[in-house]
Amino acid sequence: MSVTPGRTHVDHLIVGAGFAGLAAAIKLDEAAERDFVVIEKDSDVGGTWHINTYPGAECDVPSQLYSYSFALNPGWSKVYSPQQEIWDYTRRVAEESGTLDRFVFDTAVLDARWDDAAQRWIVRTEGPDGPREYAARTVIAGAGGLSEPRLPEIEGIDGFQGEIFHSARWNHDVDLAGKRIAVIGTGASAVQLVPELQKVAGHVDVYQRTPNWIIPRNEREFSSIEKTVFAKVPGAQRALRSLVYATLEARVPAFARFPVLMKAVEAQGRKNIAKGISDPELRAKVTPAYRAGCKRILISNKWYPALDADNVDLVTDPIAKVTGDAIVTADGVERPIDVLVVATGFYVTEPPIAQHITGREGRTLADVWDGGGMAAYKGTTIHGFPNLFQIVGPNTALGHSSMIFIIESQVRYVVEAAKALRREGLAAVEPTQAAQDAWTAQIRRKMKPTVWQTGGCASWYLDKFGNNTTLWPGQTFTFRQHLSKFDLDKYDVQVSHQREAVNA
Ligand code: NAP
Repeated sequence: MSVTPGRTHVDHLIVGAGFAGLAAAIKLDEAAERDFVVIEKDSDVGGTWHINTYPGAECDVPSQLYSYSFALNPGWSKVYSPQQEIWDYTRRVAEESGTLDRFVFDTAVLDARWDDAAQRWIVRTEGPDGPREYAARTVIAGAGGLSEPRLPEIEGIDGFQGEIFHSARWNHDVDLAGKRIAVIGTGASAVQLVPELQKVAGHVDVYQRTPNWIIPRNEREFSSIEKTVFAKVPGAQRALRSLVYATLEARVPAFARFPVLMKAVEAQGRKNIAKGISDPELRAKVTPAYRAGCKRILISNKWYPALDADNVDLVTDPIAKVTGDAIVTADGVERPIDVLVVATGFYVTEPPIAQHITGREGRTLADVWDGGGMAAYKGTTIHGFPNLFQIVGPNTALGHSSMIFIIESQVRYVVEAAKALRREGLAAVEPTQAAQDAWTAQIRRKMKPTVWQTGGCASWYLDKFGNNTTLWPGQTFTFRQHLSKFDLDKYDVQVSHQREAVNA
């Protein structure tokens, strides 16, 4: 392989320093695969937990499960952790790991292209010191499934003269006290931020397109005795973690095979509505008309009381347009505002990063997926894209438990792949088309009876073909089992061109 001047050569290039990228860095380091670089577009580790700083941002997965298995945190303050605590946790883990010397912050990956002659990924980045180029044996993409804000396409929104920002790009410079605020969206982010806005705003209009099922959040602080036990009694925290894990896994059959069981969740949701809202008309507006679980089930004790407050209106008429200082709904009503918060979610099934990854045949990942939707072997590797490993790839997300479990499963698989490449003296691996197709067919089959396909809702889990290409349709331990060893026999392999030449 010829070496192009100005290129930095590394074994592994990791994209993103969130939970996925950080785990990959730590586990590669432990496996003595130390020649890597982590490229992060933001200024610190933490990913979504660094970026999402909207008021009230908290995790809706229990704290005991929301940490790496190799770095439990006895200090969590509450049953569900606030954003700042999770971000602090990732910073602590990163510092203690001794890998931060290989992290490059404030640097965006512009594109990645497989160079078949060099058998390397050529990755262009842009950072404070200008553009840079890397040649990497593998690319481990941990850019996150929920990282690119989706802005709503609403007539006139670009001409809005007040303050406007997405929930995931909160503008803390804007003083919200006494302001007239509109929030578009009623998903997981809105449900957390609206109750905080209600406390300080003059008035809040919440624009709801579809209501969600929302059940109570069994929230409480951990006592100092509990924290001491977690820290000092061997196995105590791990036992609680296992219990939480098992409790969440017990919900899987209702999601995946017997959606009718979700009636129990709907009963909980209805009770939550009755408790939080006094007005029958408002109760009706927030009651979903689809099976619970079809969209992500949300947890909150604050959402319904916030909607019931005197300074909040729930608007269900569709938005017709945005003017310079107001939102106009289809019924012609104009509601003036000072601040517009768009809590409209993320690009999930068509991730923008896919447009910037070009594989062996010169096609981008976006082109390849455009024909049939996102697909990857074991949610991690993709035919036509040698040595590309996607963490939180297609059909790996969860509606019921902690993504960190999935991330760790994938990272193990990637590390095993890196070891196999070295052990076998291979230049590249990519899953065979047959292996990938069989995997996808199996996922589609399992997806059929799930609540996500049958529950009667539109959700961000589904792509433009109506397929759920985001969620894992089963128990998380099954996923881990599938990825427990790197199955080289399901891969096309490339030996190094240099070796080919020597052997010729
Ligand atoms: P989301 O769940 O996708 O919600 C977006 C909301 O915006 C929905 O209510 C949607 O309505 C609405 N919307 C989108 N486009 C619209 C338009 N053009 N006009 C009117 N309304 C529009 O996004 P999110 O709340 O940011 O949450 C995304 C995911 O992030 C969650 O599902 C969860 O996985 C994760 N999250 C997790 C936590 C946590 O605690 N762990 C917190 C926040 C977010 P429709 O329902 O009709 O589409």
